[in-house]
Amino acid sequence: MRKTPFVTREKLEEIAAQIPTPFHIYDEKGLRENIREIYKAFSWNPGFREYFAVKAEPNPAILQVLKEEGCGCDCSSLTELMMAKAIGNTGDMTMFSSNDTPPEEYVYATDMNAIINLDDFTMIESYARAVGKFPKTMCCRYNPGGIFKVSNGIMDSPGDAKYGMTTSQLFDAFKILKENGVENFGIHSFLVSNAVTNDYYPMLAKLLFELAVELKEETGCHITFINLSGGVGIPYKPGQEKNDIMAIGEGVRKAYEAVLVPAGMGDVAIFTEMGRYVTGPYGALVTRAIHEKHIMKEYIGVDACAVNLMRPAMYGAYHHVTVMGKEDAPLTNMYDIVGSLCENNDKFAIDRMLPKIDMGDLLYIHDTGAHGFAMGYNYNGKLRSAEVLLHEDGTFDMIRRAETPKDYFATFSNLSIYDKLIDEAGWKE
Ligand SMILES: *Cc1c(COP(=O)(O)O)cnc(C)c1O
Repeated sequence: MRKTPFVTREKLEEIAAQIPTPFHIYDEKGLRENIREIYKAFSWNPGFREYFAVKAEPNPAILQVLKEEGCGCDCSSLTELMMAKAIGNTGDMTMFSSNDTPPEEYVYATDMNAIINLDDFTMIESYARAVGKFPKTMCCRYNPGGIFKVSNGIMDSPGDAKYGMTTSQLFDAFKILKENGVENFGIHSFLVSNAVTNDYYPMLAKLLFELAVELKEETGCHITFINLSGGVGIPYKPGQEKNDIMAIGEGVRKAYEAVLVPAGMGDVAIFTEMGRYVTGPYGALVTRAIHEKHIMKEYIGVDACAVNLMRPAMYGAYHHVTVMGKEDAPLTNMYDIVGSLCENNDKFAIDRMLPKIDMGDLLYIHDTGAHGFAMGYNYNGKLRSAEVLLHEDGTFDMIRRAETPKDYFATFSNLSIYDKLIDEAGWKE
C-alpha cells in the first residue's frame, strides 16, 4: 500500500508560517474515524472499552478527542494519571496499568477511583500498605512465560519480559484478593508489540478466556473484564498490509463464543489499551531540509533530530518519508536524512531513495502519532517541538508549544543567570 500524507504541502506551509518547523501534526478526522471503526469491530461486546495508552501520545487535547469517542485512559505514572483526571477520566474511565509502582501513585490512582491493575504478586502487599484497603474491583497482569508466536513469524518472549504474574501466582492473587473483599476481577496481559497480523488479539483472547474459566472454577471469583492491552501494530513500511480491525474483532468474538459463553461467562467485558494502533498513523513529524552535505554519502540535514523522534535511532525503526510537493517525482537520489545531534545514529532514514531534495523542502515523516513526540528528550540541550492538531475543516490548533531555553533551564538552581542571558538575547518566551 502506498503511503500518503494526510495533509497537503500548501496546508503545511500555511501552518509553518505560524508555527515554525519542526512540529508533530495530528489528523483529528483520521483519528476519530479510526476509533469509531475500533468500537464497531467490538460492538458485539456491550461492555467494550478502549483505554488509550497515554504514554503513546500524552497530550490532553488528543486525550479529549479520544474521550469524546468513548475512550478511557490507560496510565502508568503519576503525571499520566493527572492528565486523565484533568480531562475528567476518573473512576472506571482510567486503568492504572503500572509496574514497579511507587506507593504514592497507588494512592493517587485509588483516590480517583481508577481501576488498579496489579503487575506483580508482591504488589498485593505493597498496595495494601500504601492504601489500606482494597477497592471492589481489581485487575491482575498475567505473564504465561515461554515464547508467544503469532502468524507470519511475529513473536515475542514473555518469558524474558519483566511484566505480570506467573500462572500459579495469579491463582493465589485472586484467592487473596477475594478473601480481602475484592468482588470484581479483571485479567490483563500484553505479549507482543507492534503485531502486524490479525491473529494476535484472537490468540491472546483465547488464552486469557481459557484462563478466566479456570480461575472462576477454582477460585469462585467473579471475572468482569478481560483486558487485551496493547500491541496491535501498524504498517510503518509501504507494501506492508494493514491490520483489519473488523477481522480482529470478529476473531475475538469467535473465541468468546467458543470459550466464555459455554462457561456461563457471557457477561465479561472486553477492554483494550491500544496506543500505536489508535494514534500512530494519524501523526507526522514535519521538518525542513536546511543543509546538504556531499562526502562519502549524500546527506540531507533537517531541522528536527532524534530528540523529536527517537524510534529510528533507538530501534533502527523504519519511518516512511515524503518530500512534500514531490509525491509523484521519481526516486532518483539516495540520502541519509539526519538531524543535528552529536550522535551518528541521529538519522531518520539511511540509504533512502527519494526525489531530489532542495533546501527548504518540507519533509513529512510518517506514523509518528504514537511513541513519537512522547519519547522525546533533551539530549544535546535540544528542545521539544510543538504539536499541532489539524481539524476536520482544515483549521488547526497548536496543542503544545515548542520548548524554549527558559523551559530547559527551569529546573536549575541559579535561574536568574539564565533569565539574564535570555533577556540579553532578546528572546521572547
Ligand atoms: C505501552 C503499553 C500499551 C500500549 O502499547 P501499544 O503497543 O502502543 O499498543 C498498553 N498497555 C500497557 C500496559 C503498556 O505499557
